[in-house]
Amino acid sequence: MIDQILSYNQRFVAEKSYEPFVTSGQPDMKLAIVSCMDTRLTQLLPNALGLKNGDAKIIKVAGGTILTPYDSVIRSLLVAIYELDCKEIMVIHHSGCGACNMEANHFLHLMCERGITDEAIREAEQHVDLHEYLDGFHDTEASVRRTVKAIEQHPLTPKDIIVRGFIIDSHTGKLTVVS
Ligand SMILES: [Zn+2]
Repeated sequence: MIDQILSYNQRFVAEKSYEPFVTSGQPDMKLAIVSCMDTRLTQLLPNALGLKNGDAKIIKVAGGTILTPYDSVIRSLLVAIYELDCKEIMVIHHSGCGACNMEANHFLHLMCERGITDEAIREAEQHVDLHEYLDGFHDTEASVRRTVKAIEQHPLTPKDIIVRGFIIDSHTGKLTVVS
């Protein structure tokens, strides 16, 4: 698959297909979005929100959640706020999210099947509580509220930043306001 992508890429560049996407590195709408890596959202999310290339900083991780106050999502948001002048942040979880129903025990079982040893699990446990790390959030709306709060109440978030939470329908793209 990667080799196919590489040959497509050569044609893309040679034919100057990039021209409609040219933009500066600054987010034109001064907007940052935290959302999920779900492939249903890859094009649906920007299209449903009317975003063009260059409009917003879109940070995507499994579930669109913040794991710890100094994880890479928060770091990216700080870059968006301080270096790129973003004024508003949208937290967008989605219907049918895989990260909602994740079960740490199931994960550990899959790891074991793929040859991950108990020793490796113990080593990982020195860095994180794997049950906490691999468990889903179970309640999407509560997770949106928790994520919004984690950003708003972060000690390094300026008070004038607007943070709002939403759930997007993974099929229709309809946004439901949570906060
Ligand atoms: Zn998801």
